[in-house]
Amino acid sequence: MPTMGYFHEGHLSLIRRAAADRGKKGAVVVSLFVNPTQFNNPADFAIYPRDEARDTHLAKTAGCDVLFVPDFKEIYQDEYGKTAIRIPVIPELWEGEHRPRHFDGVATVVAKLFNIVMPDEAYFGEKDWQQCRVVEQMVDDLNFPLLLNFVKTVREPDGLAMSSRNALLRPEFRAKAAALFRVLRQAAEAFAKGGEPRAIEKSSADSLISAGFSSVDYVAIVAADALKSAELGEANCRVLGAATIGGVRLIDNVEVK
Ligand code: AMP
Repeated sequence: MPTMGYFHEGHLSLIRRAAADRGKKGAVVVSLFVNPTQFNNPADFAIYPRDEARDTHLAKTAGCDVLFVPDFKEIYQDEYGKTAIRIPVIPELWEGEHRPRHFDGVATVVAKLFNIVMPDEAYFGEKDWQQCRVVEQMVDDLNFPLLLNFVKTVREPDGLAMSSRNALLRPEFRAKAAALFRVLRQAAEAFAKGGEPRAIEKSSADSLISAGFSSVDYVAIVAADALKSAELGEANCRVLGAATIGGVRLIDNVEVK
């Protein structure tokens, strides 16, 4: 299970799920590596929260058998290595538009971790819906011999999706941040009732600004698998969103029921 650490209940739910699936012979391996190649902004990488001692304790309590904490040189021999994985189409949409090459960094480090750990199964959180689809495509296209499991998003009591980045929110912004989930859920309901998707996306972005977000990268009603913009009345859709509040960029997504 690849992670960047600073564990919260979201990470722990993945670890617990893997521990429950492990059976008698297996081991739950969790990697903790704040991967520089998936950050487009070096300042964001520098302030990413880290606490290895706390993570070690929490991971063990949740059922982790091996916590793999490689240093930079173990993963990237020189600079960022010379070979990278580039997946077309899905990684260029939404997050990809706003974070160029982010998913190249994710796919490459996940492929490396798969080759180092050689897991039978791997666990990813639905919180990062687009990342799940990117990893799924890579595993299919490159025939990685493993089974992927996707785990539901764990939320704070007010609905905010748990994220290591929430620790960076000052209290006045934290109090307003759950609007992201509320607005995405309202968008999903409006679309399910037959609303026009582009109009809903626009009014959702306006609602986020009214709720205290400083900017909105996207609110997008999309086909859940291909992630292309959904048409009026389309089935099997998801609403994805990314917006910034108090200088912290948050992402979330909800199902259209
Ligand atoms: P990260 O450390 O942010 O790279 O996350 C490591 C793994 O935990 C990824 O597969 C994430 O999708 C997953 N994850 C992060 N936040 C949550 C959450 N709130 N609920 C469920 N899974 C999560």
